[in-house]
Amino acid sequence: MTGEDIVTLEQRHILQVYRRAPLVLVRGQGARLWDLEGREYLDLISGVGVASLGHAHAGLARAIADQADTLLHCSNLFYHPLQAQVAQRLAALSGLPRAFFCNSGTEAVEACLKLARRYWHAQGGAGRAEIIALDRSFHGRTFGSLSVTADDHYRTPFAPLVPGVRFVPPDDPDVLSAAASQQTAAIIIEGIQGEGGVRPLSDRFARALEETCRRTGAFLIADEVQCGLGRTGHAFYYQKLGLQPDLVAVGKALGGGVPVGAALASERVASAVSFGDHGSTYGGNLLACRAALVFLETLVDGGLLAHVGEVGAHLEARLRSLAARHPAIVDIRGAGVMWGIELGGPADAVVAEALARGLLVNRTAGTVVRLLPPLTITAAEVDRAMAILDETLLQATPGAVA
Ligand SMILES: *Cc1c(COP(=O)(O)O)cnc(C)c1O
Repeated sequence: MTGEDIVTLEQRHILQVYRRAPLVLVRGQGARLWDLEGREYLDLISGVGVASLGHAHAGLARAIADQADTLLHCSNLFYHPLQAQVAQRLAALSGLPRAFFCNSGTEAVEACLKLARRYWHAQGGAGRAEIIALDRSFHGRTFGSLSVTADDHYRTPFAPLVPGVRFVPPDDPDVLSAAASQQTAAIIIEGIQGEGGVRPLSDRFARALEETCRRTGAFLIADEVQCGLGRTGHAFYYQKLGLQPDLVAVGKALGGGVPVGAALASERVASAVSFGDHGSTYGGNLLACRAALVFLETLVDGGLLAHVGEVGAHLEARLRSLAARHPAIVDIRGAGVMWGIELGGPADAVVAEALARGLLVNRTAGTVVRLLPPLTITAAEVDRAMAILDETLLQATPGAVA
């Protein structure tokens, strides 16, 4: 099939909810991708933060093949050897001892919301069901996770959503404090708002979250689907913010490309759950858990977390000098290998020009060029990406400083 054949067939048979860039990707290696015509791209999106170990990672590929040859799935009607091992590793990283496995970030958020409600229901508190979420948040697209997602564009066509959700600004301690009460079941945050434009929460707001949860007893849910699992150079970004949530949602990077998500919970939250309260047919199957084990072993024992710290510092320095050269850049935000380049106007032209030059980046929140490379990206690849971005900005936005 030619690229045109593929596009034509998709237009006939695929639900048209994605505005795809005009290229057909067929192969990858590390931080590089190749399209149908054999053109090479440097990948600073990694499938929106998913291909955490890079593409065609040898250890992950071997483990997946071996698992396919052994046993892929046995359902949650039975035990298998891998789920508890992944949970144990996640517990060691997060400080939360219990995991529920699912298949995506959205499902992980959904489980966190349900577990918070479940706890307060068990306390006999029929009223304690409100959730506080932040403006600019993105938590997913199922009814529960969409209900705590701020963007009206995503919400409006599907109203009415789950009731009892209030949105507050992500930078105003007083509004947060006034919104929370004994009726608040949980407050849900992203330590760095990803889809909202790569916006880290401030330490000041983190202290307000801590104080508000302590005062009202509301649970803190950290959605670490995008910023978690090493991407920022910390195992979890809430750790950088000095927070200890009661519930954490993970996904994206965890399977390195194999779909897997998890809700992590404190013993207190977990104690309210009884058999049958929640579940998933696929959740935590052997394939997903084998992939997650390879990722977590590489992150911790393989030194990948330390690598992100180093290469992330290099990337930040390069981005700051890029920003100093280009007046079109109005802000640089992020940590580790998760960065947003805020432009003075729409970011689409820069994204398209970068693509034409063989660099994959993406646009979020209208004016932000987002970088989410594989955690394995090298300093040399960062340098090449920054050189392409420099040329791109020269072309797509006028007025660089020499
Ligand atoms: C991507 C994302 C989700 C949704 O994850 P899916 O795997 O697409 O369901 C939820 N929360 C955050 C912060 C995300 O970045």
